[in-house]
Amino acid sequence: MHDLIKKLFPLCRSITGKGVRETLKLVGTHIPLAICEVPSGTKVFDWEVPLEWNITDAYIKNSVGEKLIDFRNSNLHVASYSRPVHKTMPLEELKPHLYTLPGQPKAIPYRTTYYEDTWGFCLKHEDLGKFTDGQYEVCIDATLTQGSLTYGEYILHGSSKHEILISTHVCHPSMCNDNLSGIAVATYLAKYLSTQKLQYTYRFLFIPGTIGSITWLATHEEERKDILCGLVLTGVGDRGPITYKKTRPGTTEMDLVMEHVLKTHNKPYKTIDFYPYGYDERQYSAPGINLPVGTFMRTQHGTYPEYHTSLDNTDFVNQESLKDSLFVVTEVLKQIDDSPRYQNMYPKGEPNLGKRGLYKAMNTQAAGGKKFQLAMLWVLNLSDGKHNLLSISLRSGIDYEKIKQAAEALEQHRVILKI
Ligand code: ZN
Repeated sequence: MHDLIKKLFPLCRSITGKGVRETLKLVGTHIPLAICEVPSGTKVFDWEVPLEWNITDAYIKNSVGEKLIDFRNSNLHVASYSRPVHKTMPLEELKPHLYTLPGQPKAIPYRTTYYEDTWGFCLKHEDLGKFTDGQYEVCIDATLTQGSLTYGEYILHGSSKHEILISTHVCHPSMCNDNLSGIAVATYLAKYLSTQKLQYTYRFLFIPGTIGSITWLATHEEERKDILCGLVLTGVGDRGPITYKKTRPGTTEMDLVMEHVLKTHNKPYKTIDFYPYGYDERQYSAPGINLPVGTFMRTQHGTYPEYHTSLDNTDFVNQESLKDSLFVVTEVLKQIDDSPRYQNMYPKGEPNLGKRGLYKAMNTQAAGGKKFQLAMLWVLNLSDGKHNLLSISLRSGIDYEKIKQAAEALEQHRVILKI
């Protein structure tokens, strides 16, 4: 995973353009990724696929022709989606277009200007002193043209058409934790799952943040109905403990199973409630979409100093953390995949258990009778197609074996059916 990150690191990604295509091409050497192109101008819900942005070079030269900023040294030097510019200007005119982090003088910040008609350069604050009064030649050799938004999709078919979604963003330029780590873990997760016998179908999306998930959701109205749950993978390679951000309702199968796996993993972790900021979970959790998608990360975005700067480099992420993230996500998916799921055939009120002799069954369970009754009621209540038996056991606090017996008894009487 770390090797893949190193290979992807130099590419200048954005929400569209060649950097994303090259990134997906490299991922495609590991898994058979379908590359999808959605033309600029396509209406997607309240948005529109933007013009495609590509950049070949950029620099700022002082009056004696010295390059004070050179895009070739770091693609973070140019704000993503900067409009093309080539002119000589005085410092006063240039200054509003220079971004630094005064509190972190050795870091180049990451900035974007996706939907604004402007341009900008990012540099280390300690280099700002080189900009003295005078004339500067400013060049951003970029294009904004009718093109397309590119994303990658890999569907791994299981025996069920019901799907689990794994989504990761591919729009950030040279930064490793955010989000080459997510790309690497998703790639190796897909690789591993492709060797397993799977109950569910797994859909991997490698998409530009926000506009990518909105585009996918808007163009897959039917497909998204089959999604049971999912995870957004972001910032999964730093040395901090795992942070899991719950799904919008906060008590879904993904939340229950994730917390169960994290508890038994015996390492520090943190769970946080859903809030409508962050990465693509925002779109999957929009009120009209409402998919139970959690966010799996290590140190939470925005809370570590390397975040969105040039310090988020290949040393900031390490193989151990990547492996640990991959292990936990794999374990969660295994547990979701392994446990059966039922549909209550009488969901409008409780079914009449007495006329089916199921109360009698309870009584024959001797000392465990009361527990067995409760287990049946939990199975009936949560067999809405969204909860497997493991998550019903976790939610109810009743042993898995007891829940399973209750489900088997209900299934025998066709009160619930396996889906
Ligand atoms: Zn980010």
